[in-house]
Parts: sequence; C-alpha cells; structure tokens
Amino acid sequence: MDFSGVCVKCGKCKAVCPTYTFLKREDCSPRGRVHLADKSLKSEESFLTCLMCMACEEVCPQKVSITEKIVESKKRLRLLSYSLISAGIGLTSSLGAKFKGKPSSSSKKVAVFVGCLLAHRYPDLVDRLCSFLSFLAFDVVVPEYQVCCGFPMYVGGIGWEGYFKRNLKAFSGFDAVVTACSTCASFLKKKYPFRKVVDVAELIVEYAFVLELGEKEKVAFHPPCHLVRGQSIDAGELVSKLGLIPLSETCCGFGGVLSLKYPNLSLNVGRERIEEALAKEANVIATLCPACMFQFEKVSMLSGARIKVMHLLDLISFP
Ligand code: SF4
Ligand code: SF4
Repeated sequence: MDFSGVCVKCGKCKAVCPTYTFLKREDCSPRGRVHLADKSLKSEESFLTCLMCMACEEVCPQKVSITEKIVESKKRLRLLSYSLISAGIGLTSSLGAKFKGKPSSSSKKVAVFVGCLLAHRYPDLVDRLCSFLSFLAFDVVVPEYQVCCGFPMYVGGIGWEGYFKRNLKAFSGFDAVVTACSTCASFLKKKYPFRKVVDVAELIVEYAFVLELGEKEKVAFHPPCHLVRGQSIDAGELVSKLGLIPLSETCCGFGGVLSLKYPNLSLNVGRERIEEALAKEANVIATLCPACMFQFEKVSMLSGARIKVMHLLDLISFP
C-alpha cells in the first residue's frame, strides 16, 4: 500500500513551522492543520495563521500537500472575503498602465510582470527592472492591461480565475515574462501556461552581477519562501556570488493573510529575521520580494531597529 501523501504524525514539520514556534499549539502546527483539514473540522484560527511558507512541505517525508489542504479548507469554510484581501493590496487596477517599456533593436523581447506591491508601493523598482533588462539588451514591454497574479486570492481560498484570464490575454504572444517579485514568479511558474517565466534573481546570477556598496554597508540577504521553496532557486549561490551575509530560509512573517488578520504574530515572526540580521552585524537587509520588503520596513519601524531594507536590484551595479 502506498502511504505517500498521508500524514504519519511524525512531527518533523513542527520543528520548522514559524507559527508553531510562537503559538506552541498543536492545532496551529502543520500536522494539526493537516488533521483538521482531513477531518473537515472548522478551526478558523488554525488555517488563517498559516504563512503558506512551505517550510513544512520541504521536510515532510511523506510529501503531504500541506498548504494545498489548508487552502482547500479555507475555500470550503469560506473563511475570507475578497474585500479583506483587496483592502490590503491593490488588486484590480491595470498594473502596467503607468510604466513604459524600453524598446531596442534587439530581437529578444521580454514582457515585465509588475505585481501589486511593486506597482503601488515600489514603482521605482519597476522602472529599475526595465532599465536592467534593456541594459541586458532585451526589448522590454510592460503590457498595459495586466492585473494581480491572483496569488493573494488563491491562498485565501477565493476565486482568482478572473485574474488568470486577464493576464493570459495581456501576455499573449510573449516568449518570456520577467518579474522582480519572487512570489509572483513562483505563482506564474506554477499556475500559468507561459512558455518562460524568469525571476530577476536568475538573471542576476546568470550574468554575474556584483554589488555596488557604500563603504560601511553590510548587506544580509533574506531568501523569500517563494524563491527558495516556491521556485527551488539556490539562495546559497546568490549569497556567495554577491558576497552577501546569509540569513536563515525562514519566512518574514508577511505570508498568507497573517499580516492582515493576526498582525502581532506576523510582527513577532518578522522581528526574529531582523534580529538575526542585526546579530550578524548587517545594516542592510536585502531581498527579492516586495512583500518581504514591506514586512521588514514595518517591523523595523515598529521595533526601532536601525536597518535599511532594499531590493537586490537596487544594490547591483549597472549603469
Ligand atoms: S505532515 Fe509530514 S512531517 Fe508533518 S507530521 Fe505529517 S508526515 Fe510528519
Ligand atoms: S506553510 Fe509555514 S506556517 Fe504554514 S504550516 Fe507550513 S511551516 Fe507552518
């Protein structure tokens, strides 16, 4: 009999779960959530406190689809409303409308996937990504009618098909889609039929960029869950090639709907990451996901930590 995919209650997942670390409750551990999901039991707090960080799935010897079971439970129990998620992130507007691509004579055409947080919170990074791609001699297009990738609704157990359809239309005819958001990249790779999706991290490694740092800058790198687990990209390679200070591959605390529904738990998880960077004498924390950036900015502001938050794109050297 094949028991793969079936929880054998070994508990290995509990050791790596950032929310169990704080809550110390079996019903808020990966194993407990799987049990509740399998029995179709209702426990709002158990499901909504999951960060969707996938750390549990990485160590589970049975390959249990833990996050999928949690998402299915949220859907079945209708735990979230669209308005809660859309209040946190700008989901509906045409995200590409205010950005211009960089046309060139190159035959290598790429389309930029912008993403909600980059469009609304870090628009300069979208321009920076366009400049970076044209520096690499790509012909850059930012499709105007693109929208949110749909990940926030997917993890909330809410229909995201409308977003999928709009993006398919906006990106039809492009050979490659590039983004500076690891969460978007991971979701696009898993759920969309695009021929090629590229996380900007892959280009930074491939073209061997180096960092341009001020004399006193010491940069720690936070590897987003959706980079290392969502896309299986090796953070170690980035860290060693760029001379970064490595940090643990634990979630920043923003994930799932935690930062919206359980802000204190979210802050506690985030504070641990900042403290780790400070303990390693970093004064900059760099990452590749705008949600992680947003979380670290909030945590450092609330805790008074003296650390600057940056996207790797802003640290690498190119004209
Ligand atoms: S989910 Fe996987 S790691 Fe966790 S207790 Fe079950 S079998 Fe073990
Ligand atoms: S996805 Fe992360 S937060 Fe959720 S159960 Fe797994 S380890 Fe815990």
